[in-house]
Amino acid sequence: MSDSYDVVLIGAGHNTLACALHLAAKGWKTGLFEAAPTPGGAVKTGEYTLPGFRHDWAAMNLNLFAGSAFYKDYSAELAQHGCAFTPVSKPFASAFPDGSWLGVTTDRAETLARIRAEDPADAETWSRLNDSFPQTAEAIGGLLSIPMKFNAIACFMFKMLRRNKIGGSLDIAQFMAQTPRRFLTRSFRSEKMQALLGAWGLHLDYAPDVAGGGIFPYLEGMVAQNLGMTLGQGGADTIIRAMVKAIEARGGRVECNASVAKILHENGKASGIELADGRRIAAKKAVIAGVAPQALLRMTGPTESRFDQAMRDYAYAPGTMMIHLAMDSLPDWAAGAALQEFAYIHLAPSLDQQARVYQQAQAGLLPDEPILVVGQPTTVDPSRAPQGKHVLWVQVRMVPGQIKGDAAGQITAKTWDEATAPMAERALDILERYAPGTRAKILEKHVVSPLDLEAENPNLVGGDQVCGSHHISQNFMFRPARGHSDGSTALKNLHLTGAAVWPGAGTGAGPGYLLARRLAK
Ligand SMILES: Cc1cc2nc3c(=O)[nH]c(=O)nc-3n(C[C@H](O)[C@H](O)[C@H](O)COP(=O)(O)OP(=O)(O)OC[C@H]3O[C@@H](n4cnc5c(N)ncnc54)[C@H](O)[C@@H]3O)c2cc1C
Repeated sequence: MSDSYDVVLIGAGHNTLACALHLAAKGWKTGLFEAAPTPGGAVKTGEYTLPGFRHDWAAMNLNLFAGSAFYKDYSAELAQHGCAFTPVSKPFASAFPDGSWLGVTTDRAETLARIRAEDPADAETWSRLNDSFPQTAEAIGGLLSIPMKFNAIACFMFKMLRRNKIGGSLDIAQFMAQTPRRFLTRSFRSEKMQALLGAWGLHLDYAPDVAGGGIFPYLEGMVAQNLGMTLGQGGADTIIRAMVKAIEARGGRVECNASVAKILHENGKASGIELADGRRIAAKKAVIAGVAPQALLRMTGPTESRFDQAMRDYAYAPGTMMIHLAMDSLPDWAAGAALQEFAYIHLAPSLDQQARVYQQAQAGLLPDEPILVVGQPTTVDPSRAPQGKHVLWVQVRMVPGQIKGDAAGQITAKTWDEATAPMAERALDILERYAPGTRAKILEKHVVSPLDLEAENPNLVGGDQVCGSHHISQNFMFRPARGHSDGSTALKNLHLTGAAVWPGAGTGAGPGYLLARRLAK
């Protein structure tokens, strides 16, 4: 063996980094090996267009990280290593084809005035939902952050029943089971209000008619109203750079350009890893793999048949395409200059359009009118671009990883090598419709297809930005498989972490931190 550690971690996503930092802090000798030239996985920032224009390659909204248990415990240490955030008071809005817009800002009176202008009854509902948010957040937030283990669930249920009695607890369970469409159409009369919030479900794979998805539009709306949004100062990679420095300051090692080819094991117990360059690294206490389930199986070879089959069967959501734009100035939104002040503009005009796009992508079709999430980070953080200039972060949701056809019947390409350019043009046409003249302001663009996403980070299978569908059958105690939601595998001392493990995707570091605390106990 070339080297030896207490724990060896595979991949430098924010989950493994959080896990490594906690274990290093508990005195474990820690070595982390990342295939890419830079750490961070889906959280990285770079000058992908022109010098001085810093683009978040994938994740931009760091609300989940800033609100996480990991950040609560390590914020002081990360700040010492340069982690800094930019708070956003105007988090999101939607523009509509009729030239109107709706948005949520941390000024409740301002938000209510806009909603009231659409429908007074919806403003009352918004107020009511906000008033009850602290109690509901405690219940839902509590469930989303505990291990999916019998004791933890029983303890959670006991607290729920004591506080809400049987009826109240069942109401919360029903609330969590509903589709976005049911929650939104029962709560709001304005179709624009429904679309404004429904767009958030599509950030995961909760299209309007997917059971269990209703809480995401709700949570995102309430969090935005009460807390706004958090961006990384200078880029989302602020959290990654700080975590790497903190690990190194505690004696740990983070090595990039180090692809892991195999997980070594004998007699049912993991003992280390083999890198693609042939080096073998020993792990005395644990090997932690921050990879996709099928990749885990490729690295171990066959282990235990039920576990191996579950890893093989693990399912992915449709893909994403990213368009990074260096801009001369921000888009001139037809709906009004006020939209330039929001961090996210959703171009997702109705629940029916959102449902159609998801269904098309699921069926392998390039959507005729994909949903756009237009991020305007430089509106709050000018340090990301040269003076007076801007970057746009455009997410195209959702697109198929493998193309069977085009829902609009115009693009004949069946591979992403050929389809990327026309699909990017379709997205830019949509942007141009809502903000005429935007094309003329583009100084440079960088398009990342679903397959580019996967090529740079193999965890994003088919461009699935959440590393596996979050539908109920693959969430909670079933993520990634029954009996393994705590990251345990069929091999002793081998653990899986990252977005494929409960509590799943996003920048909340939940899977990594839950695992680290379990191991360090
Ligand atoms: C386009 C996009 C936009 C997103 N936007 C947001 C957002 O705004 N807010 C939010 O909260 N979430 C967002 N997400 C989701 C979120 O970024 C991810 O769920 C999260 O970052 C995943 O973290 P992770 O720790 O699981 O690992 P990942 O970030 O997936 O990193 C895994 C790492 O492991 C490495 N690796 C894999 N195999 C090997 C190997 N064999 N050897 C060595 N290294 C290996 C990879 O190279 C990669 O660096 C977005 C995701 C994408 C793709």
